[in-house]
This record gives sequence, C-alpha cells and structure tokens, in this order.
Amino acid sequence: MSLIAASRNRLRHYLLKREQLADPRLGVWKAAKNASDQASYLRVCNICGWHGAEFLGHAHSEGANCPVCGSIARDRFLYWCWTKLVPYSSTQRVLETSPRLDKRYRSRMSSLVNYVASDYDESAHRATVRLDLQDLDLPDSSLDVVLTPHVLEHVPDTGKALHELFRVVAPGGSVMLMIPMPQGVTAPPVTVEYHGDNTLVYWRFGWDLRDQLEAAGFTVTCLVTQELIDRLNRKEVDTGWTGTDVDEVDLLSHADPGTLTAIADEREARRYGFQPDLHFIIWHCVKPS
Ligand SMILES: [Zn+2]
Repeated sequence: MSLIAASRNRLRHYLLKREQLADPRLGVWKAAKNASDQASYLRVCNICGWHGAEFLGHAHSEGANCPVCGSIARDRFLYWCWTKLVPYSSTQRVLETSPRLDKRYRSRMSSLVNYVASDYDESAHRATVRLDLQDLDLPDSSLDVVLTPHVLEHVPDTGKALHELFRVVAPGGSVMLMIPMPQGVTAPPVTVEYHGDNTLVYWRFGWDLRDQLEAAGFTVTCLVTQELIDRLNRKEVDTGWTGTDVDEVDLLSHADPGTLTAIADEREARRYGFQPDLHFIIWHCVKPS
C-alpha cells in the first residue's frame, strides 16, 4: 500500500471510530472486526461495522449484501436514517415491523434500545409479536420510533394504518417509513402482484403518499440521497434503468426536488451502498409535540 493510501485508511479508520464511539448503535460487531479488510474502507456496513473492498452482489436496494450481518442496501439505508435523525437513547421504545435480519441483529437491537420486532402473520418473517398495522394492539403514545421497511404496500387500508401509527407514537416520536416507490402517483397494481416473499401488494406508492401521511397528522420529510436531488435538478429523469421494479421516468418526472431532503452525500451513498439513487427513498414522519 502506498503512503498516501495508508494515511487515507488511517484517517477513515479514525473518523469511523469517532462516529462509533459517539453512538452505540454504530458499534462494531465482533464478527465484523474479524472479517473486515483492514486495507480497505471502500464499502462500510453501518449496521455491523464491517468494511472492505466490495459488498456481495450488485448495486440494488435488495442487493449489495454485507458479508457479515447479511444486510442488504435498504436495511442499511433505514438504519442510516434512524441513526442520523433520531438521537440515541437506551430507553428509546422501538418497534420494527417485519425486520428481515436474523437473531444476531435482533438481539443486538434489544441490547441497544427497548426493542420489539413484529409481523402480521409470520409467514415471511419470524417476529417477536404479531401486529396488524391497521389495528395495532398497543397503547396510545407507547413508542418513540417505528422502523417499517417495505410493509405498508402490503396493507389494504393505508389510511387506517397511518392513523394507527400516529396513535401509538408518542409526541415527538418518529416513523421511518420505507416502501418501494415504483411510480410517480399512487395506484393499486394493474395485475396481481406479489413480492419475493409471496406477500400480496395492495398499493404501488408514488410521491402523493405525502398527502396521506400529512392527513394522518405527521410532519413529513422525504429522505433521499444527494445524487438523486442533483440529477432531478439537472432534469435527468432517464438513466436507462431497465429494472421492472421501478418505472424510472414516471417516478422521477413526477418528483419535485424542492420537496426532498438529502440524508447521504455522494461519497456516503457509494460507501454504504445506497445505489442506484432511485431505490433509496424514506419518509420520515414525526408526530408533532
Ligand atoms: Zn453488516
């Protein structure tokens, strides 16, 4: 390794260490310590702390797997938004709906915060408690944070679910809502659609989801990468994305960059695997105090 590369690595190591010490949620798992490539910080997993030259698999919200904790890119983006926007507290009451990571992640979360993982019917994910988002068996204002990755699109009555989420979150609390955004305007699927885990899709959401979130009472911020905002400002809505998961031109031609907030710069998006940009959209919904 050249001297320049070595000192760059030392700097990255120091900066990461500083972040990890400041927030226990960013602490490095033992397995990640042993498996990391000490010579490379090109890719970093913000969940387990692994670092190395490349994630496993291609760049995609459902890809770029961490070789240690198994996180895919969207797992890391959700965790990123939570750790960036909600200050750490060990007494924080956190509900995560249908987390896809295994028991190592869940026991880690339980050691960090007051954590509960839930699922609707446990057909696709094994969870600690069963919860129907449309009828939450939880007291009012009993949670500080809800992390909900790719669940709302599988719920028939969006309004009911949002009303329930608003009810159970304490004033000042947050819902980090991640859903696929396949198109610009919300509509039901034209043909019957299932996701990889055989769960029926009721809604294909677009940017107008904001109206429903606000109608439920939330103050809403739409979090994306700086890369996405930059190209929307340049009116580049077509990079030739051919994936069937997102109609890129339809989604982006309906987007207003002025309503989006950058949560990761270009370097961070590359390092943590938040690419391609059109896959990384999270709605941060805060219940006013
Ligand atoms: Zn990891």
